[in-house]
Amino acid sequence: MKKYLNWVLAAILICGSTLSTFALPKVHVIATGGTIAGTSSGSGYDAGQVSIEDILAAVPELNDYAELDYEQFCNIGSQDMDEHIWLLLAKRINQVLLDDSYDAVVVTHGTDTMEETAYFLNLTTHSPKPIVLVGSMRPSDSPEADGPKNLVLAVKTAVDPESTGKEVMCCLGEKIFEAGSVFKNDSHAIDAYAAITPDYYMPHDDNTGFDISKIESLPQVGIIYGYGGCSTLPLQAFMEADFDGVVLAGVGGGNFYAPVQELAEQAVAKGMKIVRSTRCPYGGVYTEGGEVDDLQLGFIAAGCLNPQKARILLMLALTETNDTDRIREYFNQAITTELSRIRRAQSQMNAFKTLHNGEILIQAGDKTYNISGIEQRKGY
Ligand code: ASP
Repeated sequence: MKKYLNWVLAAILICGSTLSTFALPKVHVIATGGTIAGTSSGSGYDAGQVSIEDILAAVPELNDYAELDYEQFCNIGSQDMDEHIWLLLAKRINQVLLDDSYDAVVVTHGTDTMEETAYFLNLTTHSPKPIVLVGSMRPSDSPEADGPKNLVLAVKTAVDPESTGKEVMCCLGEKIFEAGSVFKNDSHAIDAYAAITPDYYMPHDDNTGFDISKIESLPQVGIIYGYGGCSTLPLQAFMEADFDGVVLAGVGGGNFYAPVQELAEQAVAKGMKIVRSTRCPYGGVYTEGGEVDDLQLGFIAAGCLNPQKARILLMLALTETNDTDRIREYFNQAITTELSRIRRAQSQMNAFKTLHNGEILIQAGDKTYNISGIEQRKGY
């Protein structure tokens, strides 16, 4: 009898451990490199050195949250990310997430251009399953290595039921950010990312989604940084190289030194798309209420998108249309998404104030965001 009981107990134990293994969600990790895969060298370090196999093996705690498998997609510093890799990565993620056996994807990535990759993926992947990007600001062999903690947060975020159907997310500095609003705000600090608005886990908005399944290359779009006395040479060069579009990272509300603006008008007449963004991290550029008449001059206002994200949206929009008004609609959609993000913040934080002069402010942490311009201009 005792022998029989021992058998039953053993069977229960085996079943229990098997069941708990089966109960773990399955996450596919796609490694692209970055400092999270970096090692020290000379006076600094090299990004993209360590394999994903070794990175994951160094953080056994990950196995408490998910059943992981992985692939080494590339191993580069994210300064070397480009449109070609973005297209391949988006297609690969779409393929993985179509597979019923996977619940989520985590992408290890350098922090320099993670916001661009995240935004690109947000517009080109089409699954409610979570996609989480993760990086680090210190190399893997540093005494201050932040990769392991960020990786744990990324996997926990990927398997959290709350993450289903949300925007592509980025984990850094022990925080979670969303593709639409995240940007690299500090070139050195471990806490390197900020968001235009506080992050409240926006739904993954497929209205602006693009089907890239049959696209092999993207239209050519450059960025020109504005400054007092800005040279016309970069725009001339883009025009001579027959670029399809240029994003002007203008000063203030998307303004540009007069000779550049005049040349931009000529560029529009020749068929180039000109998007006005700003070098200011907050506030955005809108068609209404500014100093430049976009509708008359044929320019497109970037809304809340920073120049690098505006470039991505313009490239993708150009895969579907050459019509300036339709392209404007894509940017308006991005503004609408940002407004919903702001509203979500308002309702969740209950910190919405309407001042006597009609200004609408949101307070989040130690920052105050003035959104009255956006709301009035968009007629909300
Ligand atoms: N240059 C590195 C990269 O973006 C920096 C980092 O990952 O933090 O790949």
